[in-house]
Amino acid sequence: MNIILLGPPGAGKGTQAKRLIDKYGIPQISTGDMLRAALKEGTPLGLEAKKYMDQGALVPDSVVIGLVKERIQQADCSKGYMLDGFPRNVSQAEALDEMLNELGQKIDHVVCVEVPASELIGRLTGRRTCRNCGAGFHVLFDPPKTDGVCDKCKGELYQRDDDNEATVSSRLKVYDDQTAPLISYYDKQGKLRRIDGVGSMDTILQRITAVLG
Ligand code: AMP
Repeated sequence: MNIILLGPPGAGKGTQAKRLIDKYGIPQISTGDMLRAALKEGTPLGLEAKKYMDQGALVPDSVVIGLVKERIQQADCSKGYMLDGFPRNVSQAEALDEMLNELGQKIDHVVCVEVPASELIGRLTGRRTCRNCGAGFHVLFDPPKTDGVCDKCKGELYQRDDDNEATVSSRLKVYDDQTAPLISYYDKQGKLRRIDGVGSMDTILQRITAVLG
């Protein structure tokens, strides 16, 4: 099963993807995580991507399309995958359709996680991640037991560079302008499954699994 997780930054796509990995036995492919990993390693691609990410802008299509094309052909994707944060605009969606066509694959479901815009800024600016194990927390909605320390592995929690208020506003605008048109793109293909993204993590997971079957 090949799935796209669509929705604005802060909708909880990454959080739900991590829970869906176990349930469906398919990997999460997050272009944002891949770009952050490249940056951490200091690769030329990572350093180039940082310029865009720091502004909340999209990294050039050719970069992310190349990353995804390579990733979906790896062995762990043979039973399917969840795309999280890709495609981000219509030309990426068209490139994806084309590459899947070539590979004899298709997208089965596009899960659109809907959250009111008024909730997103608070969700994003309060987000914290463990440097060591990648677990996610929120200073208000899901705080760690000790400030700044991961409950799971005692690693250090950090705030993503692009989760500050100014960059978050740009990211939300980019979503409205460039990514939201994908809702009708996939609706026309009959693949869109809308999910209410407000509620407990368990409730939202249930809503997603109900549409995926
Ligand atoms: P995310 O982790 O999905 O919120 O992505 C963080 C940042 O990485 C975005 O604001 C973009 O700068 C970049 N990025 C992630 N995925 C894509 C994509 N599919 N196309 C272009 N830029 C992306």
